[in-house]
Order: sequence, then structure tokens, then C-alpha cells
Amino acid sequence: MKNFDNSKKAFKEAQGYMPGGVNSPVRAFKNVGGDPLFIKQGKGSHIEDIDGNTYIDYVLSWGPLILGHADDQVVSALQAATAKGTSYGAPTELETQLAKKIREIVPSVEMMRMVSSGTEATMSAIRLARGFTHRDKIVKFIGNYHGHSDSLLVDAGSGLATFNINTSPGVPKDLAYDTLTVPYNDVEGIKAVFEKNGPEIAAVIVEPIAGNMGVIPGTQEFLDTLRQLTTDAGSLLIFDEVMSGFRAAYHGAQSLYHIKPDLTTLGKVVGGGLPVGVFGGRRDIMEHITPDGSVYHAGTLSGNPLAMTGGLSTLNQLNDNLYKKMTAKTTRLVEGIKAAADAHDVPITVHHVGTMWSYFFNGGDVNNFADVQASDVAYFAKFFKQLLQQGIYTAPSQFETNFMSSKHTTQDIDDTIQAFNDAFDAVNNG
Ligand code: PMP
Repeated sequence: MKNFDNSKKAFKEAQGYMPGGVNSPVRAFKNVGGDPLFIKQGKGSHIEDIDGNTYIDYVLSWGPLILGHADDQVVSALQAATAKGTSYGAPTELETQLAKKIREIVPSVEMMRMVSSGTEATMSAIRLARGFTHRDKIVKFIGNYHGHSDSLLVDAGSGLATFNINTSPGVPKDLAYDTLTVPYNDVEGIKAVFEKNGPEIAAVIVEPIAGNMGVIPGTQEFLDTLRQLTTDAGSLLIFDEVMSGFRAAYHGAQSLYHIKPDLTTLGKVVGGGLPVGVFGGRRDIMEHITPDGSVYHAGTLSGNPLAMTGGLSTLNQLNDNLYKKMTAKTTRLVEGIKAAADAHDVPITVHHVGTMWSYFFNGGDVNNFADVQASDVAYFAKFFKQLLQQGIYTAPSQFETNFMSSKHTTQDIDDTIQAFNDAFDAVNNG
């Protein structure tokens, strides 16, 4: 058995200062009934906790670290940038360099603004859509998560799903009233909402490949329907690719479905582990942002030189070939997991797209949030703790996604599959 004494001690102290001892709720492991690990360092595919235990890491900071921990090029670029000063609050060429790179990879993002988190990106995109269309209502899908701004904390996934909260207290009811929610992948449901409310809808925001209720890909028909309905009603289509961007595919989920959204939000990988979010899209819409237009957006640390360097030194190392390799590794892993579950008679559904993967202890089809909720979360909690014992660090919730990095080796993957087999043995016999 691994010893977690130092993590336990650190957690106890942290709880005196921060609610739940953490700065983001799912980190607390509350839903899986354990104490979180405090991390000392990471390199490549591995992390080490403050008790000296090492793990193969599939959380990867919840997605950003596509090149693994402490990538040599990212670290040396950041060291060089830091020596020149950490922030100026004035333009730098780095911002244009990162913007150019993003547009090259995701061409629908004709113009963009840099921010410091995914939450800011989606919040700003919603304000822009409302300002552009002069309408108030927005549509989101049940179990999709778009960060913690008021309008979007309605029927959300991720931590809200993990802790069984529908809509956060503190969200004014008038704001929640303007957020219409529909089950994910429900073509008839979204058609009905547009029939009734079409002329009042500013935007539909969607995770084209949902990652905040585990991985659930949108169907082609569903996403095509969103594109058609929004175009017909004069509403905007916002693809929230904070997670799926540079993850589901090099050129984002939009490249897989051949759909051009009006606006796209990015985060996570785009900062390479530093705080970066992006919202962008059609030039004629983005020109409504201040100072060219009157929809307000600003940020003291927006476009920060260290954050831009983290993003640039990461995106500059990505290419189509790397994605082929990472996707093949992900496929090898999830096939191994499925075989391990089958061999132990554990009902499982495994989903993966590109470098995103998750599994549900649920033998049926999983296409929306109601399906996810039918999963066996009690088994998940036991299994998660066994995986930690086996040296595998995965997302501590059935409602989250795991990731793959360029640094995970075939050996790491085969060791992980073995660990899954051992964890199934331990839970089933324990
Ligand atoms: N949108 C999506 C799709 C996300 O997955 C997340 C975070 N997991 C966010 C928005 C919010 O990003 P952040 O946590 O950086 O505010």
C-alpha cells in the first residue's frame, strides 16, 4: 500500500485556508471519498507526489499538457522569457505570433482576443454574441460545461455534475431564465426550442465533443442541425473548443465535422500549461469588440508574455503526424481497458476521440447526460482509488475526461493496461 501521510498533512493545513482545501472543486477528491494527492513535480508522462510516490499521469493538468510535464523546449523558452520581465501591460509581438499560429491551425478564427482562462473566453464570447445580435437568450446543452460565468452555470457538467448541483446558488434567476437548456445530441429538442424562441436567441454554445460528462462526441446530425438552425434564425453558433481544441484533432473538433462555427473558444493546450484562453471567429463579429466596436472586453494580464510563450512553444511543436501517433496510443490504451473490463465481467462503455478518452461503468449507450448518470459511481470511486495504488493518476470523477500526451510511451500504456487489470481484480475481490 502506498503511503500518503505527507499529502494528508498538507491537505489538512490547506483546508484551514481554502474552501475544501483546494482552488478548484474536483481536485478535492470529495466525491471519491479520499484525500487528494499533493504534487511535488512532473516530468514527461509522470508526476510525483510529496510522499515520493510516482504515477503515470492522464490528467495532464486537465488537458493543457499535450507535450507532457516540463517539456524541455517549453521550459527553456519560459526561462528566457521570464528573464526579460513577466508582464508589461503593453502590446508585444508574441501576441501576434500566437494569434497567427492559432489562425493557421484553426482557420475559422479569423480574429481573436487572448484572455487568461476558458471561463473568460466563453463569458466574453457570450457577451459578444448578445451585443452583436441585440438578443439576450442563449442555448446550452445539459452536461456541457463552459466555465463558471453566471449565464453558463446552468445544468452544467464537470464539477457541478460531480457534486450533483444543477444551477449554482448565486446565479440571478433572470440570467438563468435567459439560458435555455436542451439534452445533448437531441435533434428534435433543439428544433423545438428554435421553433418557439428562434428570433430571441443570440447564440447556441456547444462542446462539439463533450468532455465534461466524460467524453461524448456530438453526432454529425446534431451539429449540422445546430449550424442550420442558427444560420436560419440569425443566431450565432459558438463551438466551445476549450477542451477539444488541439485535443480531439490538431485542427479541432470543427475539422472532424467540417462545420465552421461563427465563434470558437479555446483554452488549455493553447497556453501549454500557462493561463491562456482565446475567443475568436468571424472578422465582422470580432470587430464589435472594444476599441473598434462597443462590446467591452479587457484584461490586465491578457496576452501576458509568459502565457504567450507557453502557448507558442507548445503549438510550434504540434503537427498532424504527432496527432496520428497520439491517437494510435489512445486507441491502444482504450482497447486494453475495454478488454480488461470484459475479462472481469465489469460492464463498461469506453469513448475516445483523438487524445481525449474516458470510460463509464455502464454497459449501455452513452450519448447524453442522462445516460452518464446511469453509470455506477460507487464502483468508480473504489476503482479510482485502486488505480492510484497501482500508480495510475486519472481524473477523479466519472464526469471528466482523461488525456494522452506525446510523452506517453508504449510501455506506459501497457503498464497502464496491466494496472487496470490489477485494479479490477482488487475491486472485485475486495
Ligand atoms: N469550456 C470547456 C469545454 C472546458 O472544458 C472548460 C474547463 N474544463 C472551460 C470552458 C473553462 O475553462 P477554465 O477552467 O480555464 O476557466
